[in-house]
Amino acid sequence: MMINIIHYDVAASIIFLVLIINVHKERHVETRSNLLLLCVLYVGLLSALSDMLAAIFSNTGRVSFGILIGAYASNYVYFAMHNILLPIYVLFIMASLDIWHIFMKKLLNLVLWAFFILLDFFLLMTNFFTHKVFYIDENMQYQRGPHILIFYMVAFLYMIVGMFIIIKYRSIISKAKRGVLLVLFPLIAVSLLIQAKMGNALVENFAVASGLMLYVIVIQRNENPVDPDTGALKYYRAIERAFIASKTSKPFSVIFIKILNSNNIQIYLGRERFYQYLKIQSEQFEQIAATIGNRVDVYYLENGLYALFMEDSNRDRAIAYANFISRYYEDTQYMDHLEINADTVLCVAKCPDDLEEYTSLITLATTFYKTVGTSRKVINFADYRNNKDFRIRNELDNIIRNALTNNKFEMYYQPIYSIERKRYVSAEALIRLRDEKYGFIPPDIFIPAAEESGAIHEVGDFVLRDVCRFIANNGLDELGLDYIELNLSASQCIEVNLIDKVKSLLKEYNIPANRLRMELTETAADINPAVVGNNVKKLSELGIHFALDDYGTGYSNIRRVTSLPFVQVKLDKSFVEEIDNPVMWNVIKDTITMFKEMGKEVLVEGVENESVAMRFSELNTDLLQGCELMQGFFFCRPMPADKFVMYMHECVEKGVNK
Ligand code: C2E
Ligand code: CA
Ligand code: CA
Repeated sequence: MMINIIHYDVAASIIFLVLIINVHKERHVETRSNLLLLCVLYVGLLSALSDMLAAIFSNTGRVSFGILIGAYASNYVYFAMHNILLPIYVLFIMASLDIWHIFMKKLLNLVLWAFFILLDFFLLMTNFFTHKVFYIDENMQYQRGPHILIFYMVAFLYMIVGMFIIIKYRSIISKAKRGVLLVLFPLIAVSLLIQAKMGNALVENFAVASGLMLYVIVIQRNENPVDPDTGALKYYRAIERAFIASKTSKPFSVIFIKILNSNNIQIYLGRERFYQYLKIQSEQFEQIAATIGNRVDVYYLENGLYALFMEDSNRDRAIAYANFISRYYEDTQYMDHLEINADTVLCVAKCPDDLEEYTSLITLATTFYKTVGTSRKVINFADYRNNKDFRIRNELDNIIRNALTNNKFEMYYQPIYSIERKRYVSAEALIRLRDEKYGFIPPDIFIPAAEESGAIHEVGDFVLRDVCRFIANNGLDELGLDYIELNLSASQCIEVNLIDKVKSLLKEYNIPANRLRMELTETAADINPAVVGNNVKKLSELGIHFALDDYGTGYSNIRRVTSLPFVQVKLDKSFVEEIDNPVMWNVIKDTITMFKEMGKEVLVEGVENESVAMRFSELNTDLLQGCELMQGFFFCRPMPADKFVMYMHECVEKGVNK
């Protein structure tokens, strides 16, 4: 009699048990795959236990009716479990890859999947009479019958299907996940070989247990998907999920919730309480979903932005849900007696109808609340998808790249008027973009986008070169101008090679440095004061003067203003809007006086009509130290280079600009 070695089954049972406890403990995220994993583990456990029991019965060496019944029963359980393990594993693979919806689309898939299991079970039933699968001989020993080959073939078939699925959808899963999902198959194959060679070493269950352990260790463990701070799923998981869904055209709804004043709430509550607040929101979203019989996965993206994924792709239900949430925010919330009034906007999208590409989903997430007025609290993306602003923002990266390669950018020039000299003395170069598809796109939209994507460096290079070429081609003296001003964006200011770049351009176009002036905003100095300071200093030493742009919109930090060698301060348009307010008018006057005392030139932007121009001109005669420069539509709108040159020639001829 051969003694069966049961140690492997014991080890396998322990592993299965530990894994089962582990998976139970995990928060259920993609519930279906977790549930199926649990099924596989339970089936594995039963398979190991029954295998062990069968071995123990035959190991007793005794012959009795009781032992015979026990041996048959445990072997039947073993076969049954064995029979469904791989098919369930195949289902688990599909759930884990999030391609369940593809499998369920065709009834035939389900029928085929079930057919071979039923075939095995049929053989198992008939085995009662035929003993063609296995039987227990008179010595209480297990013996194989010829039909067992069919069992092996069926198992092999499910293995092939499993591997095929993993390989077919390899692009949507990580290498690690692909590896641990695949590893089970060779493990089973090798263990079957070992078992065939040495009939008494029951290693197959151990092989299955090891394979699944790898999965749990590598995937489940490493991927704690919940951010402990916010109680929601992490950002990258949302990206991953959207990516997979777009690759497999999975239908689902996504609801974005933006808490517009989240920064204020964070400052108000403090860090600790704010995270608690975020956790409460996540729980609320789940609860509200539960009350209407739905389930959502809550992802926290950033800055008060949540993405909720709902497997249900019915648009009306998703909108109803969003309305529930919106209503929830109508009431004041309390945390430790602190009142919180969150200001929210929601956007509902149905995928893949509304969005095919996952990148557009991400763009939607980060832009919908910027392009939509706050009057509506819940936006249905279907109504919004044709919004020009959204489409532009969505494609902006491509538009900018296209504009760079196809020369779609163009510089416009707006003259700057000197009150003292009663003539134009310079002009500001302003970039324009005209796209074939979307027409004119204002720089207020594409410059920030270019800064975000990094394309601003190329855009900035274009501006520098184009302005230099303009100066070289037209000769500023003939236009009656002293210099041209251009806007440097914050990211350009921190370019390490900015100085060399400017130097070589000046040389190439043979223009003196004082013909170029650069405008910086305060935020530039914020990013990296050391590098910006160095760049500005070196360029100033070259002879390029600097102007501080948009004064009055940022923090207007006087210390910072004085730390950089600005020769000019440009007061923002918003100042001009306030001149009828007596208090503000005094502030404006004092601000101008302060800068004059610091020896700076002062320019007012956004002068749109004569009365404003007069107010500032009078200021100049009233006070010795008034502002001397003005810029605005009242004098002239920005014009394309050729028109601007013509206009300036006319001015010179008329004697306005000598
Ligand atoms: P900015 O530097 O403050 O430029 C002045 C803006 O005010 C320009 O808008 C100009 O057309 C507009 N403007 C001029 N006079 C008036 C007026 O009387 N009333 C009103 N309401 N507006 C007036 P634009 O050209 O749309 O540019 C917007 C912003 O985009 C600029 O603000 C600047 O921050 C950025 N920008 C424009 N060109 C460039 C560029 O070449 N490089 C970089 N980095 N940024 C640029
Ligand atoms: Ca400017
Ligand atoms: Ca400005």
